Amino acid sequence: ADVLLDVRDLVKHYPVSGGLRRQRRHSVKAVDGVSLQLRRGETLGVVGESGCGKSTLAKLLMLLETPNSGAAEFEGRDMFSLGRRDRTRLRRDVQLIMQDPYGSLNPRMTVEQIVGEPFDIHRDIAPRGDRRKLIQELLSVVGLDPDHHLRRYPHQFSGGQRQRIGIARALALRPKVIVCDEPVSALDVSIQAQILNLLSKLQQGFGLSFIFIAHDLSVVRHLADRVAVMYLGRIVETGTEAEIYDKAEHPYTQALLSAALDPSPDRRHENQVIQLTGDVPSPLDPPPGCRFHTRCWLRREIQTERGEAATELCETASPFSETEPAATGHHTACHFAPAWTPPIPD
Ligand code: SF4
Ligand code: MG
Repeated sequence: ADVLLDVRDLVKHYPVSGGLRRQRRHSVKAVDGVSLQLRRGETLGVVGESGCGKSTLAKLLMLLETPNSGAAEFEGRDMFSLGRRDRTRLRRDVQLIMQDPYGSLNPRMTVEQIVGEPFDIHRDIAPRGDRRKLIQELLSVVGLDPDHHLRRYPHQFSGGQRQRIGIARALALRPKVIVCDEPVSALDVSIQAQILNLLSKLQQGFGLSFIFIAHDLSVVRHLADRVAVMYLGRIVETGTEAEIYDKAEHPYTQALLSAALDPSPDRRHENQVIQLTGDVPSPLDPPPGCRFHTRCWLRREIQTERGEAATELCETASPFSETEPAATGHHTACHFAPAWTPPIPD
């Protein structure tokens, strides 16, 4: 496969000052050993509750943060040790669309200035041609009237239109990858579908690859070829769209699915609604063993069937494998998945 982005065992901890326990180094384990691959032309959905590390992962891939350890290659070159010139090129190749288009658009700049800004910042690599014409092309590509909007300001647009402006700007330098960080979660449901359709159309037209970050599995479904589910800084399950939505193996993924998707008639009898209990533990001090064990319904079921001792592994050993290839196959970080069934009494 044509791998565009190859991320291996990426770690980003944020130190916390004034920790109570002096002896121990306190840090937020935001991203704690993430491996993934993005192939050309595909969409990788990255899903998890807030605080799971998905936004930190986006910042690392945008070179807005430096990892503590691990590596990431973009088209075969180490992203974190590039010279200045190659860094600039990478900044053109990998663009970001953010959740809140209003917050990310300068209110004092006109649409023409906003969409054209990347041309000013990257004069040497900007596409050639008449500047205004290029901006007008970008506006019509995202479905905005290219003539009437140029001199307007962000506050004169609806949320959906502002997100289109953000997308036009992200496309200005003809990127290869767009990291979409919850691009529709601030929009009305009807507008969400329009923006998702636009992104899908642009992906085909421009041959783009997407990393699509969301807290909800239902949003990602429309676009994603593959999905990675994150929990407390780690990927707990990776698979194709079909593997994740129809054959999820990790109890956390199953709980997210159960919460996100309407129970369709054919699904109802096989899947009861799974409730996630308790809060997400602090990333300052993730639980030992399996990080999900404090909230895991499968662990509780196994304990009911076989007794407390049966799930000792959950509390003591990480089911997480750092060496698993992330680009292909269905990977699940759980000691008991996929094939746990209650034992037949003898
Ligand atoms: Fe649950 Fe244990 Fe699997 Fe973790 S390893 S997801 S606690 S069953
Ligand atoms: Mg976020």
